Amino acid sequence: MIEWINFIYLLSAVLFMLGLKKLSSPATARAGNNLSMLGMALAIGATLLSPEITTYRMILVGVGIGAVIGGVSAVRVQMTAMPEMVALFNGCGGAASALVALAEFQAAGNAFTPFSMVTLLLSVIVGALTFTGSVIAFAKLQGLVPSRPVCYPGQQLINALILVATAALGVAVYRDPANTMGFFYLIIAISLVLGVLAVIPIGGADMPVIISLLNSYSGVAVAMTGFALQNNCLIVVGSLVGASGIILTKIMCDAMNRSLANVLFGAFGAGDAAVSGEGAEGGGPQGTVKGYELEDVATVLENSASLIIVPGYGMAAAQAQHAVRELGDILGERGVEVRYAIHPVAGRMPGHMNVLLAEADVSYDVLYAMEDINDEFSETDVVLVIGANDVVNPAAKTNPASPIYGMPVLNVDEARTVVVLKRSMNPGFAGIENELFLKENTMMLFGDAKKSVQGLVATLKG
Ligand code: NDP
Repeated sequence: MIEWINFIYLLSAVLFMLGLKKLSSPATARAGNNLSMLGMALAIGATLLSPEITTYRMILVGVGIGAVIGGVSAVRVQMTAMPEMVALFNGCGGAASALVALAEFQAAGNAFTPFSMVTLLLSVIVGALTFTGSVIAFAKLQGLVPSRPVCYPGQQLINALILVATAALGVAVYRDPANTMGFFYLIIAISLVLGVLAVIPIGGADMPVIISLLNSYSGVAVAMTGFALQNNCLIVVGSLVGASGIILTKIMCDAMNRSLANVLFGAFGAGDAAVSGEGAEGGGPQGTVKGYELEDVATVLENSASLIIVPGYGMAAAQAQHAVRELGDILGERGVEVRYAIHPVAGRMPGHMNVLLAEADVSYDVLYAMEDINDEFSETDVVLVIGANDVVNPAAKTNPASPIYGMPVLNVDEARTVVVLKRSMNPGFAGIENELFLKENTMMLFGDAKKSVQGLVATLKG
């Protein structure tokens, strides 16, 4: 039986890897999800065949509760609240690993190899801090606790000392597991506190990066539990989650031109730099804001030969993606070459824009990644910026004093005409002004993105 279980685990591991590979393109992402779901179903089925299971009653209760909570929340969650949901799921993964490791510690008494003892300890420490860290990330994004960085003197030193104390307790448990149960519980308690302390100094703005990092941690905790239980499936799945989470974290940091250390310890959003964004000398951007009416913008759009649509967080917030697709279709039918430019960190989570546009059935053929389209803006008649701000801010290229200086941005300012749809002159996520809105070739159309795009569609049709 054990051979069969391991064989099915191997099959599910292959399905997870194929699933991950397919998730890297919007065209194959759904198939990737299906493969991963099949892999997970196989892994759960194989685990239920384990001869160690003596009764299914508690397992069925757990599966029932989990399935209801997971199913209902997945159906009800808004796309804009996806980071919060991922945070909660990461937290559950961490907590599950810590609880399984705790149960194993209680059951096994003194019968540990040094290796399984170390992995068990790492599982509870990483699992517990992932749990509370994820809960704080969730609470910051939901506005349940202040999203600004909470900083105090000696913060990093205190965190480091707590980590050292945890390691010391771990050594004591490792040496004499049978007589140090109290220490084991203390390690869990301290790790829970550490998760809170590690995430509170990070601003709400950086939470998506932290959630991706915590996702990686939850994978590490699962892999460690797998080593402790000698469960191949947990080892492989945990390693996949750990590795993909850290790769995604790096991609997000690179796209914002910030180091992980700066995200973790930089308290982005706490100081003046993050909100001023103005040059060290000479004040903020110069120019005049030019607001236009729907009719003016519709005329510009239908008289263009080439159009690049640049979606951002505002399109997600307004849920304007279906109206945007309709607008693109109408202009395409009238002979305008319509393409979409996707910045890697547009929106509030990786792939945010791709998911929304896929939901609205925008063809993948017209979606272009930043590096594939950035040289084309200078040859383009009109760029339609829909609720994007930071990812089109030229200050990232031109103003060394800007907090986002060095972040790769879309070269929309090089197009002949730029139309920007947003509600006000309020800044975006980074809290900085955007000189694009004041440029000579920029037309502002103020209002909710969905209403504006629907208005443009109606004007073009009418
Ligand atoms: P921004 O947050 O820079 O700007 C969004 C703009 O949308 C705002 O200026 C806002 O202006 C406008 N807006 C909001 N609601 C509406 C609405 N209903 N209708 C019309 N406009 C609206 O978004 P970007 O996508 O340009 O940039 C993403 C930012 O998020 C970057 O700074 C990135 O670094 C950061 N980030 C992204 C992550 C990711 O994985 N995608 C992760 C972590 C951070 P107004 O209020 O005037 O309408």
